[in-house]
Amino acid sequence: MKIGIIGGGQLAQMLAQAGESLDMEFAFVAPEKDACAAPFGQHFIYPYLDPKAKESLQEWSDIVTYEFESIPVALVEALEAELPVHPSSKALTLASDRLNEKTMFNQQGIETAKFATVDSLEDLQKAAKEVGLPAILKTRRDGYDGKGQVVIRDESQLISAWETLSPVACILESMVNFKREVSIIASRNVDGDIAFYPLAENYHREGILRLSLSLQNDPKQQEAEEIIRKVMEKVNYVGTMAVELFDLGDKFAANELSPRVHNSGHWSMDGTIASQFKNHLLAIANKPLQDTSIQSPTAMVNLIGGIPSKDAVAEIPNAVLYDYGKEPKPGRKVGHINICANGDQDEDFIPNVIKVLDMVGQQELIGELLKSSFYK
Ligand code: AMP
Repeated sequence: MKIGIIGGGQLAQMLAQAGESLDMEFAFVAPEKDACAAPFGQHFIYPYLDPKAKESLQEWSDIVTYEFESIPVALVEALEAELPVHPSSKALTLASDRLNEKTMFNQQGIETAKFATVDSLEDLQKAAKEVGLPAILKTRRDGYDGKGQVVIRDESQLISAWETLSPVACILESMVNFKREVSIIASRNVDGDIAFYPLAENYHREGILRLSLSLQNDPKQQEAEEIIRKVMEKVNYVGTMAVELFDLGDKFAANELSPRVHNSGHWSMDGTIASQFKNHLLAIANKPLQDTSIQSPTAMVNLIGGIPSKDAVAEIPNAVLYDYGKEPKPGRKVGHINICANGDQDEDFIPNVIKVLDMVGQQELIGELLKSSFYK
């Protein structure tokens, strides 16, 4: 089966690697000549809105999917008129705009931070009163890894915040005082069967995910599954999806929905039988979904800006390094390391995770790890 992917980054790369066992071939449309997925299939080097991008995917593929949400909805719409495209343009429209996303969550009875639309400085001044400060001004579209976001602590920062992000459409969101951040990931196939992954507990710095911990038998697993099920069924979703949640103690508030495989699910490459990548492919090809239960508790540490010595990583038991083959740049995700426990009673597991955090200069997360629900 020929799978065309819009985008050629590490998520496309890991999808193609997962497809090796499924008798699938891959092609990527991505304008970057050095797209890191390119060695894993055909690479059509076109801007997304170039008519050749659509033509080549349409001619080559049996099914089309995409690896990120900052792609033109028009391309997905044009392709889905010709062949199966999963997730649909409807899901993409919802997820690529924070206003649509939050409005949908609330309509489905899912709590979010308070929010208001901001298209001008006057709107921002009004929104600050409505939502309250501190708050975060976010661009409605194209924000990722903390880009397109400004924290506003008091009224004196309103003008500079607006000057930083204007003139694009924004929303102002109240600052949520959460107990922990988790994400729920699930895959849904064309028949509507859903496989839920165990929750991941996530730690960010400068808006970038640094550490994800797989949670076994978390008491809030069911509640999170109901949230993602509602969203998936509402849009007849097909593929893998992630919903990031703020745990407020008595309830969840939904932050963001990703219509794709997600960084906080990379632990599943080593911690479960079927990774989020494999189940995404099975879902879009309408095959039975595979087991998502935890085989070994796993921690995932992102490699940002550079890859540590592979020899040094190999000294840490059950640490698996993934190098995306990208040129290292400050703030750029270039790989990750999964550290697995050898059974539930592995006394070396937490010390091994600490060694990795230390090696990648994320010592400040060691305290968080020891306080996490993963450690308890
Ligand atoms: P986002 O790009 O919306 O996923 O935001 C990146 C990270 O910033 C989140 O994972 C949180 O750690 C933090 N963040 C975003 N929005 C809020 C909010 N409304 N309140 C508190 N923290 C937030």
